[in-house]
Amino acid sequence: MSTMPALVKPEAAPGMSLELRPRPQCGRNDVLIRVEKTGICGTDLHIYQWDEWAKNRTRPPFIVGHEFYGRVEEVGAGVTGFEPGEQVSGEGHIGCGHCYFCRTGQAHICRDVEIIGVDRDGCFARFIRMPESNVWKVRPGIPTDVAAIFDPLGNAMHTVMAQPVAGRTVAVVGAGAIGLLACKIAHSTGALSVMAVEPQARKRALALSMGANSAFDPAEPGWTEAFVRATPERVGVDVVLEISGSPQGIRSAFDIVRPGGEVALLGIPSADVNLNFSKAIIFKGVTVRGINGRLMYETWYQSERFLLEYKPDLAALISHHIRFDKFLDAFALLERGEAVKIILDWEGA
Ligand SMILES: [Zn+2]
Ligand SMILES: [Zn+2]
Repeated sequence: MSTMPALVKPEAAPGMSLELRPRPQCGRNDVLIRVEKTGICGTDLHIYQWDEWAKNRTRPPFIVGHEFYGRVEEVGAGVTGFEPGEQVSGEGHIGCGHCYFCRTGQAHICRDVEIIGVDRDGCFARFIRMPESNVWKVRPGIPTDVAAIFDPLGNAMHTVMAQPVAGRTVAVVGAGAIGLLACKIAHSTGALSVMAVEPQARKRALALSMGANSAFDPAEPGWTEAFVRATPERVGVDVVLEISGSPQGIRSAFDIVRPGGEVALLGIPSADVNLNFSKAIIFKGVTVRGINGRLMYETWYQSERFLLEYKPDLAALISHHIRFDKFLDAFALLERGEAVKIILDWEGA
């Protein structure tokens, strides 16, 4: 049996290991992809550190990773839409295909969803096997670094597109990779102004270079009052995109949204969040939306058009390229908060 290098979560404990694993077999409706570039995400860091979320959600051993770009290596006998050599990425949420949600166009909230690199083997490996329906062709003109981060780009796109932003004021809470992408998308789709909220000075500066008009430090005492004073009529912002997932970030979203405004929640808190519902939501008449993954496949088409028509410069977002066998360096950078988006390179693996 032929083998491949893979980054594995071997057991229920902190850490990951580089191992030789069997190369996946391509089933009838599968596409086997030779992975070239992968993005490391906050989710992977949770799995690496083995936090409460990872303990409750995952069952080692499994191959980690869900953000990738690669080329088709082999297709199953039933595959009609792909040929070897084509450039591809993929939707990592694999719906069951037959539950109520999958059958009503809501596969992103499938009851039995399997996420690559979480519930089944992921893409931090030389090869990944995906059902044909989840494979996404990468059009010419899209840089391969960007193709590797279609997944978080889609998270950002889904969050921004969940409510109108054109002609409105928009706050982005949390300026990691997804928050920065959300700044760029909100700016390019007609937001009147984009206000970033981020504790790290370096990321606030990046937000300003990626479409934010102003940036606030949530560590500053009284920043929410200053924020509200900076909005038209001093009533707060029309739309808040909460991407940090921190309890303070989530509470502050409701402090800075205007009465009658909208809050989209993408960031995932690791524990219950204490919130005064009557003050934060009910009397304020706020509309709250939970955002999960990407709409299949509306979000993917929106992301592709954004890349091809608007041609955003996203290079600043990718802070490091690191070879797969130096993954420990990559996680150390992430743990120290010194990276934005790290691309792990698998070429030559
Ligand atoms: Zn991710
Ligand atoms: Zn389903």
